[in-house]
Amino acid sequence: MNSPGTMLIVGAGQAGAWAARTLREHGHTGRIVLCGAERHAPYERPPLSKGLITGASSAEQAELLGLAEMQERAIEFLPALEAVKIDPARRVVRCNDGRELGYDKLLLATGGSPCRPSLPGLDSPRVRTLRTLDDALALRRAFSEAPRVTIIGGGWIGLETAATARTLGCAVTVIEAGPRLCGRSLMAPVSEWLLQRHEAAGVSVRLAHGVTALDDHADGTEVRLDDGSTIIADLVLVGVGMQPNDALAREAGLDCARGVRVDAACRTSDPYIYAAGDVAVLTHPRAPQGLRLESWQNAQDQGVAAARAMLEQAVAYSPVPLLWSEQYEHMIQIAGFPGLAQRTLWRATAGGGRLYLGVDAAGVVVAAVGIDAGRDFRAARKSVEQDAQAPFTGYQSCDAPAAAGPVPTSELTA
Ligand SMILES: Cc1cc2nc3c(=O)[nH]c(=O)nc-3n(C[C@H](O)[C@H](O)[C@H](O)COP(=O)(O)OP(=O)(O)OC[C@H]3O[C@@H](n4cnc5c(N)ncnc54)[C@H](O)[C@@H]3O)c2cc1C
Repeated sequence: MNSPGTMLIVGAGQAGAWAARTLREHGHTGRIVLCGAERHAPYERPPLSKGLITGASSAEQAELLGLAEMQERAIEFLPALEAVKIDPARRVVRCNDGRELGYDKLLLATGGSPCRPSLPGLDSPRVRTLRTLDDALALRRAFSEAPRVTIIGGGWIGLETAATARTLGCAVTVIEAGPRLCGRSLMAPVSEWLLQRHEAAGVSVRLAHGVTALDDHADGTEVRLDDGSTIIADLVLVGVGMQPNDALAREAGLDCARGVRVDAACRTSDPYIYAAGDVAVLTHPRAPQGLRLESWQNAQDQGVAAARAMLEQAVAYSPVPLLWSEQYEHMIQIAGFPGLAQRTLWRATAGGGRLYLGVDAAGVVVAAVGIDAGRDFRAARKSVEQDAQAPFTGYQSCDAPAAAGPVPTSELTA
């Protein structure tokens, strides 16, 4: 069923762009208004920590929904415009230039912003975060002049940027407060592989270390650690996670919990307002407390699902989480819920890669991680989707001493 009227999308990123495109593709004949705080037409973020900094890819290649396509699909694009307040009773959104945008249905696709810990000295001009195209272009310039790079945070953004900076010849230190890399999103043996790969590339990784302060000097910024040691950096990248941009929703009285809560039809606690992408917290059988996914695939799929739901199509969005990362020459793919794994199995793949399975206490495969695993990863991902039982022949337990040992050096060098 389709209804004309105005569909307003706040946030012109991955989820917002896919929603706008889908609304038209699925026959919406009314207005589609896409309002984005950035000055750019919607683009994809994955290249920002990778090829866009090295120069292997361009800003044009990252474009997701260009001006020509928006014109062709009659999507009214309002760049550099920030929504500042929702009035759900009047179904109006107020913007930072005083303009009011009315809607029949509203999609919040506002993504997130980098967390900035409260650290003395964090306001130094040598300190950067990475979320937008403009951030990435500025980093590209800075890396060419910054041989000493310190990265606070050993998560995906931190590690991808570490690999990129190393590739560009920078001296790189990664400081991670937790006991292992990507601790929230990987099984421990995969974190260990990542650690060894980065160390083999010459990155200095300081696990279980907190930063206490930054101090600017003429010849660099002194990064002080909680054990009293210091590192001098020309550039400090803070990559300690993102916070969802849910202030608009909270102030409008929508149900929020570190993100905007939505049901399987991407609907918030207001029946005329939907949310998708990094800002949305979905209900999921494997995460009864709510699940917020920060991934390209989810932003696209949930944007599409939300658009279909806004058109009153039957939608039940309950994905198996999917994420990928590229570091050095490696493609790392993750499906499912590594945090639920009680033990990890692994095997080498025919193409020289590795496949890890995370298994829960009931013997069900809850996560799969492929490193250069190609097609084998797809099969493992199916095991996660189908709640398949482990073990499978050909896998070894990472708990066994033989499998838990270091990855051979030949695998670690590029
Ligand atoms: C550097 C980087 C690399 C990444 N690499 C990978 C990867 O390799 N693999 C992967 O799976 N995922 C990756 N991701 C994650 C993926 O890009 C995000 O999950 C995805 O972009 C989320 O899409 P979104 O539409 O929810 O939010 P975003 O893409 O962040 O878009 C939200 C937009 O809303 C705008 N906005 C916010 N508030 C307002 C407002 N009040 N009014 C108007 N506009 C507003 C923002 O300016 C922004 O443009 C990466 C992310 C980053 C930052």
